[in-house]
Amino acid sequence: MKIAEIISFLETEAPPSLQEQYDNAGLITGDASWECTGIICSLDAIEDVVQEAISKKCNLIIAHHPIIFGGLKKINGKNYVEKTVIKAIKSDIAIYAIHTNLDNIIGGVNGKMAAMLGLQNLTILLPKEGMLKKLFTFVPLAAAEKVRVAIFQAGGGHISNYSECSFNTTGTGTFKAGEGTNPYSGTIGQRHMEEEVKIEIIFPAYLERKIISAMKASHPYEEVAFDIINLSNSHPHIGSGMIGELNQPMDEKAFLSYIKSVFEASVVRHTTLLSRPIKKVAICGGAGSFLISKALAVGADVFITADLKYHEFFDANNQILIADIGHYESEQFTINLLQELLANKFPTFAVLKTAVKTNPVHYC
Ligand SMILES: [Zn+2]
Repeated sequence: MKIAEIISFLETEAPPSLQEQYDNAGLITGDASWECTGIICSLDAIEDVVQEAISKKCNLIIAHHPIIFGGLKKINGKNYVEKTVIKAIKSDIAIYAIHTNLDNIIGGVNGKMAAMLGLQNLTILLPKEGMLKKLFTFVPLAAAEKVRVAIFQAGGGHISNYSECSFNTTGTGTFKAGEGTNPYSGTIGQRHMEEEVKIEIIFPAYLERKIISAMKASHPYEEVAFDIINLSNSHPHIGSGMIGELNQPMDEKAFLSYIKSVFEASVVRHTTLLSRPIKKVAICGGAGSFLISKALAVGADVFITADLKYHEFFDANNQILIADIGHYESEQFTINLLQELLANKFPTFAVLKTAVKTNPVHYC
């Protein structure tokens, strides 16, 4: 199997266009046309993980964090990033990063955290804007169903748990075919009136190319009439952080012990206890301080994240319990998530979890 096939699967699950602007997800070293000899899933692609890939004869590392993030000006091995990149390139190891695009989908990093905590009724904490578009196309009556089905199959018409959503109105279209055309109906040089269906279908922006080509391939007109508009609606399944509920409310001290054990954290840094039960839980794997105000606004009892600075703990304002469980600790199950996704899709292929504990933070 080619590396390209694995990447193409991952990018259907977590489209690269969902990554944040500052990010550098994607194929970082190696060549997608290589034959894949095995996959290692990791949170970080550091030198030890590259060595592991060499030893285990896996030439593809799928990592959450991009090893090259802010750009490289020299590659002479002076720091861990350069050393890793040199080793990967010299040994023909491909490194693919699936970062904020995996953070931003409902079944991604935070979805896995929520599953580990047993949270229910999950929604995205900060849904991303500008992710939805609407397509209008005008189709002769006889071909309307074929075009609708093609757009649905390409991923259009999904609204939460509903699929095949569309709105259809019939009306009369006009056109006058010019010289050299081959019109679906009517006569060249004369205005033609055609009974048409106007089909309206919502779709995620990242599927635009696929949807337009499916529409064009199924549409009988030589010149397909269609409009695309950007919607201000936010996509309920795409965005940062997540919020969910515990089955039963928990005492806050018991809850802190619970997350300490679930995430195998040596230390949980938290704000002042508020003497109230925990039911509504907001989460964000990795550095999530940008979501504190959002967690407050939605009335979460607790916000679990990592990488908080001293002053950010004050932002709890005695209205929410904030718990910093550590960056690695919060995201470690992403390794399982990637391994499970890939092993499910390619059951006969070697998909391993790294045996290297890449957490650079230790406690004494
Ligand atoms: Zn992270």
